[in-house]
Amino acid sequence: MTEPQWNLEPKFDFVDKHRVATNKKCSLAKIDTETNGPFEGKDHGRAFTHQAVIDIRDLQYKMFTEGKQSLLVVLQAPDAAGKDGLIRKVLGQMNPQGCRTYPFKVPSAEEAAHDFLWRVHKCTPAAGKVSIFNRSHYEDVLVVRVEDLVPKSEWQERYEIINGFEKLLAHRGTQILKFYLHISPEEQLERFKKRLDEPTKHWKLNAGDYEARDKWPQYREAYEDVFEKCNASYAPWHVIPADKKWYRDASVAAIVRQTLQEMNPQLPSIDADLDEIRRLYEREAAELAAKKN
Ligand code: ADP
Repeated sequence: MTEPQWNLEPKFDFVDKHRVATNKKCSLAKIDTETNGPFEGKDHGRAFTHQAVIDIRDLQYKMFTEGKQSLLVVLQAPDAAGKDGLIRKVLGQMNPQGCRTYPFKVPSAEEAAHDFLWRVHKCTPAAGKVSIFNRSHYEDVLVVRVEDLVPKSEWQERYEIINGFEKLLAHRGTQILKFYLHISPEEQLERFKKRLDEPTKHWKLNAGDYEARDKWPQYREAYEDVFEKCNASYAPWHVIPADKKWYRDASVAAIVRQTLQEMNPQLPSIDADLDEIRRLYEREAAELAAKKN
């Protein structure tokens, strides 16, 4: 049987479709958690992702050799929305020499003894590199707000501080891309069940996940505030329909690829004398051939 010929360049603007509009209240309830986008189905989406990941790798290679710009990808989501899967299947496919993932958990005692950006700043990408944040500084206006971990007067000031921080990163050549994986409570429960049924996933089980489900509306409100207050052009938010894993992967891959294309990294120009190097090579090759004969 021959492979179907999928259209791997569908006319569909993923950025435009999923980018959160600026300076406007975003209502998550009005955004679908499930879509096929331009794809005929799962196999089509997966074929698209496969090609997009290859393109992302090529572009990352150029950015790495160029050594000037950098990319920061921020992932936020409810539990089981698929941050880990997305990293494994799409973002983590980049060359690890130039790309690193940083998970942000409950702050350690040392981290908690500093300002909330202290642990974050040192994980931002150097020139030519990519950092992936699995959770991020946004937890400091999400879980911290919903769980009442610091007074309102304190977390309220953080939006502006975050904007300043992200502006600083952009100022030195870091493109920031932020993704919220938008999953429905029904799909989340389904995935919790799969974790229960699958012994190799038991390590992921956590009674706290059910407490967070009770606070779904509070988290939703906290996210909507983040989208409204921290969504500058140099650090845009995207809401990704994530009930279908293959669509989540395809749309994030498309947006990362498009962003890297727009950054337009260039292989460095070379100072070396190519003719001279070719001459040296030919001399070595001739000597080796002569030895063999
Ligand atoms: P994940 O759910 O990302 O796979 P974990 O199950 O270890 O990883 O959860 C990490 C936890 O750390 C989350 O519940 C998250 O809300 C919490 N966390 C992250 N950053 C902070 C923070 N700044 N303050 C309090 N809790 C945080």
